[in-house]
Amino acid sequence: MRDLYEVLGVDRQANASDLKKAYYKLAKQFHPDHNPNDKAAEDKFKEASAAYQILSDDDQRARYDRFGFDGLRGSNGGGAGFSNVDDIFSAFGDLFGDFFGGRASGGRRQARGADLRLDLSLTFAEAVWGTTKEVNVTRDVGCATCKATGAAPGSKSESCGTCKGKGQVVHAQGFFMVQTTCPHCRGSGQQIKDPCTDCRGRGTRPETSTLSVSVPSGVDDGQTLRLAGKGEAIAGGAAGHLYVVLHVQGDERFKRDNEDVLTEIPVSFIKAALGGEIEIYTLEDSCNGTATVKLEPGTQPGDVLVRRGQGIPRVGEAGRGDQVIQFKVEIPKKLTTRQEELMRALAEELGENVKEKRGLFGRKKS
Ligand SMILES: [Zn+2]
Ligand SMILES: [Zn+2]
Repeated sequence: MRDLYEVLGVDRQANASDLKKAYYKLAKQFHPDHNPNDKAAEDKFKEASAAYQILSDDDQRARYDRFGFDGLRGSNGGGAGFSNVDDIFSAFGDLFGDFFGGRASGGRRQARGADLRLDLSLTFAEAVWGTTKEVNVTRDVGCATCKATGAAPGSKSESCGTCKGKGQVVHAQGFFMVQTTCPHCRGSGQQIKDPCTDCRGRGTRPETSTLSVSVPSGVDDGQTLRLAGKGEAIAGGAAGHLYVVLHVQGDERFKRDNEDVLTEIPVSFIKAALGGEIEIYTLEDSCNGTATVKLEPGTQPGDVLVRRGQGIPRVGEAGRGDQVIQFKVEIPKKLTTRQEELMRALAEELGENVKEKRGLFGRKKS
C-alpha cells in the first residue's frame, strides 16, 4: 500500500482543509462519472477515498502517523478501503454534494434527477463475449423548447422575490433564527414569470428514446451496469443514472464458476480405457466452437483436463479464466450378442468372474 500522504499528494503537516482540497482535486479527476468504464481511474478514486477517510479522522490519523498501517488494524474501518464506489458515495455523499453539486454562491445544494433501473436479458454467448443492445427508456429529458430552464423562450427566469435568489429563507422562531428551504421556489432561487408552454415550466418532458447499452465481455447474471447521467433529467441539476440489471441465460454445455467454465464431455468406457482424441465444445465462435483434445489411456470417471486461458474473459481486464473439461465415462446400457461375446472374452482375459449372475457372498440374484 502506498503512503497515505503520498496518495493525496500532501505533506505530513497538512491541515484538514489541505487534505480536503487535495482529496477533492483527485476525486474530481478520477470521479467515475467523468471516467466511465475506466478501471484505472476507479482504482485511483478508491485509493484516494480510502486515504482521505483515514486522514480526515483525527484519531486514525494519529495512529497512522505513529504506527503506519499497523496502527489502523482493528480500528473501525481503518485501512479497509472501499470495495465499490457506491460505498464511497454513501460515506462521503455530503462532501460530494457540497463540492460537485454545490454552487459558489450561498451553499445551495443542487438537485439531481432520479435514478432509473431496467432489466436486460442476455444469452450466455452475449454475456461471455459482450454485445451492444438497444433499449427503450421512457424518462424525463430536458425540454428543448426552453433549454431545460422552464421559462418561455425569450423570457427569463428571475431571482425569487421571496428569498432574493438564495433558495433559503430565515425566520425567527422564539429566540432563534431558523433557515429553511424557500417555499416559493422550492430552493432553486429562481422564479419563472412566463413558463414554457411545452413543459409547463418544469424544464423537462417525458420522452421514450432508444439507448445503446454496451455490455462488456465477461459479465455475469445479476450484475448491474451503470450508465452515468442516463437517468431522469431535472431542471437546474444533473441527470440521474440508469442502472441496467443483467439477466444471463444458462447454457447446458457450459457451467460457469466465476471466470472458469466447466464442460462435461461423455466418453465411452472403451475410449476412456484406450485413450485417443475427443471433440469438445469451446467458447470460441460465439460459444459454438469445437476443439480436439487428447484423451489419456486409462481416463477415470470424473477426470479433468484444464484448458488454461480458455474460459470467460475478465470484465474490463485482459485475460480469461480456464475451461475445465470433465470426462463422464459412460457404460453401454445394451449390448448386441457379438458385443457381449467380446466383452466376456475380455473379462476372461482380465480374470473377472462374470460367468454367473451372482451377487455378493455367492447368493443367486433373481
Ligand atoms: Zn420547456
Ligand atoms: Zn425562493
